[in-house]
Amino acid sequence: MTQKLFYENQYIKEFSANVVSCTEGKRGFEVILDKTAFFPEGGGQPGDTGFIGNATVIDTVESGEDIIHICSDAVSGDVECRLDFEKRFSFMQQHTGEHIFSGIIHSICGCDNVGFHMGEHNITVDFNCAVTLQQLEEAEKLSNEAVFANIPVEAIYPSDDELCNYDYRSKKEIKGQVRLTKIGDVDLCACCGTHVAFTGEVGIIKVISMANYKSGVRITLQIGRKALADYCEKNKSVHEISALLKAKTNEVTSAVERVMAQLQDARYKYSALKKEIFAFRAADASGEKYIAFDDGGEAEDARIFSDMLAENCGIAAVFSGNDESGYKYAITSRSEDVRAIGKELNSACNGRGGGKSDMVQGSVAAKREEIENFWNNL
Ligand SMILES: [Zn+2]
Repeated sequence: MTQKLFYENQYIKEFSANVVSCTEGKRGFEVILDKTAFFPEGGGQPGDTGFIGNATVIDTVESGEDIIHICSDAVSGDVECRLDFEKRFSFMQQHTGEHIFSGIIHSICGCDNVGFHMGEHNITVDFNCAVTLQQLEEAEKLSNEAVFANIPVEAIYPSDDELCNYDYRSKKEIKGQVRLTKIGDVDLCACCGTHVAFTGEVGIIKVISMANYKSGVRITLQIGRKALADYCEKNKSVHEISALLKAKTNEVTSAVERVMAQLQDARYKYSALKKEIFAFRAADASGEKYIAFDDGGEAEDARIFSDMLAENCGIAAVFSGNDESGYKYAITSRSEDVRAIGKELNSACNGRGGGKSDMVQGSVAAKREEIENFWNNL
Protein backbone atom coordinates (compact mmCIF):
# COMPACT_ATOMS: atom_id res chain seq x y z
CA MET A 1 0.00 0.00 0.00
CA THR A 2 1.51 3.31 -1.08
CA GLN A 3 1.47 6.14 1.47
CA LYS A 4 -0.36 9.07 -0.18
CA LEU A 5 1.64 12.20 0.58
CA PHE A 6 -0.65 14.34 -1.62
CA TYR A 7 -3.46 13.92 0.93
CA GLU A 8 -1.16 15.03 3.78
CA ASN A 9 0.12 18.08 1.89
CA GLN A 10 -0.91 18.77 -1.68
CA TYR A 11 1.93 21.28 -2.15
CA ILE A 12 4.79 18.76 -1.91
CA LYS A 13 6.98 19.26 -4.98
CA GLU A 14 9.99 17.13 -3.98
CA PHE A 15 10.33 14.12 -1.68
CA SER A 16 12.56 11.13 -0.90
CA ALA A 17 11.17 7.60 -1.16
CA ASN A 18 12.16 3.97 -1.46
CA VAL A 19 11.47 1.86 -4.54
CA VAL A 20 9.28 -1.11 -3.54
CA SER A 21 9.14 -2.62 -7.02
CA CYS A 22 10.05 -1.84 -10.63
CA THR A 23 8.81 -4.01 -13.48
CA GLU A 24 8.71 -3.51 -17.23
CA GLY A 25 5.18 -2.86 -18.56
CA LYS A 26 3.57 -1.88 -21.86
CA ARG A 27 3.99 1.90 -21.48
CA GLY A 28 7.33 1.85 -19.61
CA PHE A 29 8.74 0.76 -16.25
CA GLU A 30 6.00 0.45 -13.60
CA VAL A 31 7.44 1.78 -10.37
CA ILE A 32 5.85 1.44 -6.93
CA LEU A 33 7.28 3.56 -4.10
CA ASP A 34 6.73 3.24 -0.33
CA LYS A 35 5.23 6.75 -0.41
CA THR A 36 4.43 9.27 -3.12
CA ALA A 37 3.26 12.82 -3.82
CA PHE A 38 2.41 11.90 -7.43
CA PHE A 39 -1.40 11.97 -7.80
CA PRO A 40 -2.80 9.08 -9.87
CA GLU A 41 -5.34 9.71 -12.63
CA GLY A 42 -8.86 9.77 -11.20
CA GLY A 43 -12.06 11.78 -10.84
CA GLY A 44 -11.40 13.66 -14.08
CA GLN A 45 -7.90 14.75 -13.01
CA PRO A 46 -4.96 13.46 -15.10
CA GLY A 47 -2.05 11.60 -13.45
CA ASP A 48 1.01 13.59 -12.37
CA THR A 49 4.30 13.70 -14.26
CA GLY A 50 7.86 14.55 -13.20
CA PHE A 51 11.00 12.62 -12.21
CA ILE A 52 11.95 9.68 -9.98
CA GLY A 53 15.74 9.80 -9.78
CA ASN A 54 16.89 10.23 -13.38
CA ALA A 55 13.80 8.51 -14.81
CA THR A 56 10.98 10.58 -16.31
CA VAL A 57 7.51 9.87 -14.90
CA ILE A 58 5.18 10.01 -17.91
CA ASP A 59 1.97 9.08 -16.05
CA THR A 60 0.69 7.98 -12.65
CA VAL A 61 -2.16 5.51 -12.17
CA GLU A 62 -3.85 3.75 -9.27
CA SER A 63 -4.01 -0.04 -8.96
CA GLY A 64 -5.86 -1.24 -5.86
CA GLU A 65 -3.95 0.06 -2.82
CA ASP A 66 -0.86 0.87 -4.88
CA ILE A 67 0.11 3.86 -6.96
CA ILE A 68 2.03 3.02 -10.10
CA HIS A 69 4.43 5.51 -11.70
CA ILE A 70 4.95 4.86 -15.41
CA CYS A 71 8.65 5.67 -15.93
CA SER A 72 11.06 6.00 -18.87
CA ASP A 73 13.83 4.03 -17.12
CA ALA A 74 14.28 1.50 -14.34
CA VAL A 75 14.99 2.79 -10.80
CA SER A 76 15.90 1.13 -7.49
CA GLY A 77 16.73 1.82 -3.84
CA ASP A 78 16.36 5.25 -2.28
CA VAL A 79 15.29 7.88 -4.80
CA GLU A 80 14.79 11.63 -4.92
CA CYS A 81 11.49 12.51 -6.61
CA ARG A 82 10.29 15.75 -8.21
CA LEU A 83 6.84 16.61 -9.58
CA ASP A 84 6.08 18.82 -12.57
CA PHE A 85 4.41 21.08 -10.05
CA GLU A 86 3.50 23.86 -12.48
CA LYS A 87 1.27 21.37 -14.26
CA ARG A 88 -0.07 19.87 -11.01
CA PHE A 89 -0.87 23.34 -9.56
CA SER A 90 -2.83 24.11 -12.73
CA PHE A 91 -4.82 20.87 -12.18
CA MET A 92 -5.44 21.93 -8.55
CA GLN A 93 -6.68 25.34 -9.68
CA GLN A 94 -8.91 23.79 -12.31
CA HIS A 95 -10.26 21.07 -10.02
CA THR A 96 -11.10 23.52 -7.25
CA GLY A 97 -12.62 25.97 -9.74
CA GLU A 98 -14.78 23.19 -11.13
CA HIS A 99 -16.07 22.41 -7.61
CA ILE A 100 -16.99 26.06 -7.03
CA PHE A 101 -18.73 26.40 -10.39
CA SER A 102 -20.58 23.04 -10.18
CA GLY A 103 -21.68 23.77 -6.59
CA ILE A 104 -23.09 27.13 -7.66
CA ILE A 105 -24.83 25.72 -10.77
CA HIS A 106 -26.27 23.02 -8.46
CA SER A 107 -27.72 25.64 -6.12
CA ILE A 108 -29.02 27.92 -8.95
CA CYS A 109 -30.42 25.27 -11.33
CA GLY A 110 -30.78 22.22 -9.08
CA CYS A 111 -28.89 19.99 -11.51
CA ASP A 112 -25.87 17.74 -11.09
CA ASN A 113 -22.47 17.56 -12.65
CA VAL A 114 -22.60 14.24 -14.53
CA GLY A 115 -19.33 14.49 -16.46
CA PHE A 116 -16.02 16.27 -16.07
CA HIS A 117 -12.98 16.39 -18.31
CA MET A 118 -9.74 18.28 -17.75
CA GLY A 119 -8.26 18.58 -21.22
CA GLU A 120 -4.99 20.06 -22.40
CA HIS A 121 -6.66 23.29 -23.53
CA ASN A 122 -9.74 23.67 -21.30
CA ILE A 123 -12.19 22.01 -18.91
CA THR A 124 -15.61 20.72 -19.86
CA VAL A 125 -18.36 20.06 -17.32
CA ASP A 126 -21.63 18.29 -18.19
CA PHE A 127 -24.87 18.98 -16.33
CA ASN A 128 -28.10 16.96 -16.52
CA CYS A 129 -30.50 19.86 -17.07
CA ALA A 130 -30.94 22.99 -19.16
CA VAL A 131 -29.10 26.13 -18.02
CA THR A 132 -30.24 29.52 -19.30
CA LEU A 133 -27.74 32.19 -20.40
CA GLN A 134 -28.87 34.33 -17.47
CA GLN A 135 -28.20 31.48 -15.01
CA LEU A 136 -24.82 30.90 -16.66
CA GLU A 137 -23.83 34.56 -16.23
CA GLU A 138 -25.01 34.50 -12.63
CA ALA A 139 -23.03 31.30 -11.93
CA GLU A 140 -19.85 32.81 -13.41
CA LYS A 141 -20.24 35.97 -11.33
CA LEU A 142 -20.91 34.08 -8.07
CA SER A 143 -18.04 31.65 -8.79
CA ASN A 144 -15.55 34.51 -9.05
CA GLU A 145 -16.99 36.16 -5.92
CA ALA A 146 -16.28 32.86 -4.12
CA VAL A 147 -12.69 33.03 -5.43
CA PHE A 148 -12.25 36.63 -4.25
CA ALA A 149 -13.61 35.68 -0.78
CA ASN A 150 -10.57 33.34 -0.37
CA ILE A 151 -12.55 30.57 1.35
CA PRO A 152 -10.61 27.62 2.88
CA VAL A 153 -10.91 24.33 0.96
CA GLU A 154 -11.23 21.54 3.53
CA ALA A 155 -11.01 17.75 3.30
CA ILE A 156 -13.41 15.89 5.62
CA TYR A 157 -13.32 12.14 6.31
CA PRO A 158 -16.69 11.38 7.97
CA SER A 159 -17.58 8.02 9.55
CA ASP A 160 -20.47 6.04 8.01
CA ASP A 161 -22.79 7.36 10.75
CA GLU A 162 -21.72 10.96 10.26
CA LEU A 163 -21.97 10.72 6.48
CA CYS A 164 -25.78 10.63 6.45
CA ASN A 165 -25.81 14.06 8.11
CA TYR A 166 -24.04 15.61 5.12
CA ASP A 167 -25.86 16.77 1.98
CA TYR A 168 -23.10 16.40 -0.60
CA ARG A 169 -22.76 16.12 -4.34
CA SER A 170 -21.41 12.82 -5.63
CA LYS A 171 -21.07 11.41 -9.14
CA LYS A 172 -21.19 7.76 -8.07
CA GLU A 173 -21.62 5.32 -5.19
CA ILE A 174 -18.44 5.24 -3.13
CA LYS A 175 -17.18 2.13 -1.33
CA GLY A 176 -15.01 2.56 1.77
CA GLN A 177 -13.91 5.84 3.33
CA VAL A 178 -15.58 8.85 1.72
CA ARG A 179 -13.49 12.01 1.30
CA LEU A 180 -15.58 15.16 1.18
CA THR A 181 -14.25 18.43 -0.19
CA LYS A 182 -15.89 21.37 1.56
CA ILE A 183 -15.68 24.94 0.25
CA GLY A 184 -17.49 27.08 2.86
CA ASP A 185 -21.20 27.02 2.03
CA VAL A 186 -20.44 27.09 -1.72
CA ASP A 187 -19.91 23.36 -2.25
CA LEU A 188 -19.69 19.99 -0.55
CA CYS A 189 -18.68 17.16 -2.83
CA ALA A 190 -17.21 13.69 -2.59
CA CYS A 191 -13.87 13.89 -4.39
CA CYS A 192 -10.49 12.11 -4.37
CA GLY A 193 -8.65 14.84 -6.29
CA THR A 194 -6.13 17.46 -5.26
CA HIS A 195 -7.30 21.02 -4.57
CA VAL A 196 -5.78 24.34 -3.57
CA ALA A 197 -5.96 25.30 0.14
CA PHE A 198 -7.84 28.58 -0.38
CA THR A 199 -10.18 29.58 -3.22
CA GLY A 200 -8.14 32.74 -3.89
CA GLU A 201 -5.43 30.56 -5.48
CA VAL A 202 -7.89 29.56 -8.24
CA GLY A 203 -7.36 33.01 -9.78
CA ILE A 204 -10.27 33.23 -12.18
CA ILE A 205 -13.18 31.12 -13.44
CA LYS A 206 -14.31 32.04 -16.96
CA VAL A 207 -17.13 30.46 -18.95
CA ILE A 208 -16.07 30.06 -22.59
CA SER A 209 -19.13 28.42 -24.13
CA MET A 210 -22.22 26.29 -23.52
CA ALA A 211 -23.78 23.71 -25.85
CA ASN A 212 -26.67 21.26 -25.60
CA TYR A 213 -25.34 17.84 -24.60
CA LYS A 214 -27.43 14.69 -24.13
CA SER A 215 -30.37 15.74 -21.92
CA GLY A 216 -28.51 18.74 -20.49
CA VAL A 217 -25.59 21.02 -21.33
CA ARG A 218 -21.79 20.89 -21.72
CA ILE A 219 -20.07 23.99 -20.39
CA THR A 220 -16.48 24.82 -21.36
CA LEU A 221 -14.44 26.71 -18.77
CA GLN A 222 -11.02 28.33 -18.47
CA ILE A 223 -9.66 28.38 -14.92
CA GLY A 224 -6.55 29.75 -13.22
CA ARG A 225 -3.28 29.92 -15.15
CA LYS A 226 -5.01 28.50 -18.25
CA ALA A 227 -7.57 31.33 -18.08
CA LEU A 228 -4.72 33.86 -18.01
CA ALA A 229 -3.08 32.23 -21.05
CA ASP A 230 -6.44 32.28 -22.84
CA TYR A 231 -6.94 35.96 -21.93
CA CYS A 232 -3.45 36.85 -23.25
CA GLU A 233 -4.07 35.06 -26.54
CA LYS A 234 -7.47 36.69 -27.07
CA ASN A 235 -6.17 40.11 -26.02
CA LYS A 236 -3.37 39.79 -28.59
CA SER A 237 -5.94 38.89 -31.27
CA VAL A 238 -8.14 41.87 -30.41
CA HIS A 239 -5.15 44.25 -30.55
CA GLU A 240 -4.09 42.85 -33.92
CA ILE A 241 -7.65 43.20 -35.29
CA SER A 242 -7.88 46.69 -33.81
CA ALA A 243 -4.63 47.74 -35.56
CA LEU A 244 -5.80 46.26 -38.89
CA LEU A 245 -9.14 48.07 -38.67
CA LYS A 246 -7.68 51.25 -37.13
CA ALA A 247 -10.37 51.02 -34.43
CA LYS A 248 -10.23 51.09 -30.63
CA THR A 249 -10.19 47.61 -29.03
CA ASN A 250 -13.69 48.06 -27.58
CA GLU A 251 -15.03 49.13 -30.99
CA VAL A 252 -13.78 46.27 -33.19
CA THR A 253 -17.24 44.71 -33.59
CA SER A 254 -18.78 47.86 -35.09
CA ALA A 255 -15.61 48.33 -37.19
CA VAL A 256 -15.96 44.80 -38.61
CA GLU A 257 -19.65 45.45 -39.35
CA ARG A 258 -18.65 48.63 -41.19
CA VAL A 259 -16.00 46.83 -43.27
CA MET A 260 -18.46 44.06 -44.13
CA ALA A 261 -21.04 46.62 -45.29
CA GLN A 262 -18.36 48.34 -47.43
CA LEU A 263 -17.39 44.98 -48.90
CA GLN A 264 -20.98 44.16 -49.79
CA ASP A 265 -21.42 47.58 -51.40
CA ALA A 266 -18.19 47.14 -53.39
CA ARG A 267 -19.33 43.68 -54.56
CA TYR A 268 -22.62 45.15 -55.71
CA LYS A 269 -20.88 47.95 -57.67
CA TYR A 270 -18.35 45.50 -59.12
CA SER A 271 -21.14 43.23 -60.30
CA ALA A 272 -22.98 46.17 -61.92
CA LEU A 273 -19.78 47.30 -63.68
CA LYS A 274 -19.09 43.80 -64.96
CA LYS A 275 -22.58 43.64 -66.45
CA GLU A 276 -21.88 46.90 -68.27
CA ILE A 277 -18.62 45.49 -69.67
CA PHE A 278 -20.38 42.27 -70.73
CA ALA A 279 -23.10 44.26 -72.50
CA PHE A 280 -20.44 46.35 -74.26
CA ARG A 281 -18.54 43.23 -75.42
CA ALA A 282 -21.77 41.40 -76.40
CA ALA A 283 -22.89 44.28 -78.64
CA ASP A 284 -19.97 43.61 -81.04
CA ALA A 285 -20.25 39.80 -80.99
CA SER A 286 -21.67 37.81 -83.86
CA GLY A 287 -21.34 34.44 -85.65
CA GLU A 288 -22.59 30.86 -85.37
CA LYS A 289 -20.11 29.87 -82.64
CA TYR A 290 -18.69 32.45 -80.29
CA ILE A 291 -16.22 31.94 -77.45
CA ALA A 292 -15.27 34.51 -74.80
CA PHE A 293 -13.03 34.47 -71.72
CA ASP A 294 -13.73 36.39 -68.53
CA ASP A 295 -10.43 36.58 -66.62
CA GLY A 296 -10.88 35.90 -62.89
CA GLY A 297 -14.67 35.70 -63.10
CA GLU A 298 -17.12 33.42 -61.28
CA ALA A 299 -19.71 30.89 -62.47
CA GLU A 300 -22.45 33.53 -62.32
CA ASP A 301 -20.45 35.83 -64.63
CA ALA A 302 -20.18 33.05 -67.23
CA ARG A 303 -23.93 32.49 -67.08
CA ILE A 304 -24.85 36.19 -67.40
CA PHE A 305 -22.34 36.93 -70.17
CA SER A 306 -23.18 33.83 -72.26
CA ASP A 307 -26.87 34.70 -72.04
CA MET A 308 -26.14 38.23 -73.36
CA LEU A 309 -23.93 36.86 -76.17
CA ALA A 310 -26.64 34.38 -77.26
CA GLU A 311 -28.79 37.36 -78.32
CA ASN A 312 -26.50 37.92 -81.32
CA CYS A 313 -24.67 34.58 -81.73
CA GLY A 314 -25.84 31.05 -82.63
CA ILE A 315 -24.00 29.31 -79.76
CA ALA A 316 -22.11 31.35 -77.14
CA ALA A 317 -19.58 29.92 -74.68
CA VAL A 318 -18.04 31.87 -71.81
CA PHE A 319 -15.16 30.66 -69.63
CA SER A 320 -14.67 32.55 -66.36
CA GLY A 321 -11.51 31.97 -64.32
CA ASN A 322 -7.85 31.44 -65.18
CA ASP A 323 -5.30 28.81 -66.21
CA GLU A 324 -4.12 28.20 -62.62
CA SER A 325 -7.43 27.46 -60.92
CA GLY A 326 -9.45 26.36 -63.99
CA TYR A 327 -12.57 27.80 -65.55
CA LYS A 328 -16.31 27.87 -64.85
CA TYR A 329 -18.21 27.72 -68.10
CA ALA A 330 -21.67 28.40 -69.50
CA ILE A 331 -22.76 27.54 -73.06
CA THR A 332 -26.00 29.16 -74.23
CA SER A 333 -28.10 29.16 -77.39
CA ARG A 334 -31.52 30.48 -78.40
CA SER A 335 -31.81 28.06 -81.35
CA GLU A 336 -29.56 24.96 -80.83
CA ASP A 337 -29.51 22.14 -78.27
CA VAL A 338 -26.16 22.68 -76.48
CA ARG A 339 -26.16 19.54 -74.27
CA ALA A 340 -24.05 17.47 -76.71
CA ILE A 341 -21.39 20.23 -76.93
CA GLY A 342 -21.29 20.36 -73.12
CA LYS A 343 -20.60 16.60 -72.97
CA GLU A 344 -17.85 16.84 -75.60
CA LEU A 345 -16.27 19.73 -73.75
CA ASN A 346 -16.31 17.80 -70.46
CA SER A 347 -14.57 14.80 -72.01
CA ALA A 348 -12.04 16.87 -74.01
CA CYS A 349 -11.11 19.34 -71.29
CA ASN A 350 -11.40 17.34 -68.04
CA GLY A 351 -14.69 18.97 -67.09
CA ARG A 352 -17.96 18.31 -65.33
CA GLY A 353 -21.42 19.82 -65.55
CA GLY A 354 -24.64 19.78 -67.56
CA GLY A 355 -27.97 21.54 -67.92
CA LYS A 356 -30.91 22.08 -70.23
CA SER A 357 -31.07 22.27 -74.04
CA ASP A 358 -30.63 26.08 -74.08
CA MET A 359 -27.86 26.31 -71.43
CA VAL A 360 -25.24 24.01 -69.90
CA GLN A 361 -22.94 25.03 -67.06
CA GLY A 362 -19.95 23.47 -65.36
CA SER A 363 -16.22 23.66 -64.82
CA VAL A 364 -13.10 22.49 -66.64
CA ALA A 365 -9.59 21.84 -65.40
CA ALA A 366 -7.83 22.93 -68.60
CA LYS A 367 -5.77 25.82 -69.96
CA ARG A 368 -7.17 28.55 -72.21
CA GLU A 369 -5.21 27.24 -75.20
CA GLU A 370 -6.71 23.72 -74.86
CA ILE A 371 -10.22 25.16 -74.56
CA GLU A 372 -9.72 27.34 -77.64
CA ASN A 373 -8.36 24.35 -79.62
CA PHE A 374 -11.42 22.32 -78.66
CA TRP A 375 -13.79 25.13 -79.66
CA ASN A 376 -12.09 25.87 -83.01
CA ASN A 377 -12.27 22.17 -83.99
CA LEU A 378 -15.99 21.82 -83.23
ZN1 LIG B 1 -12.21 17.64 -6.61
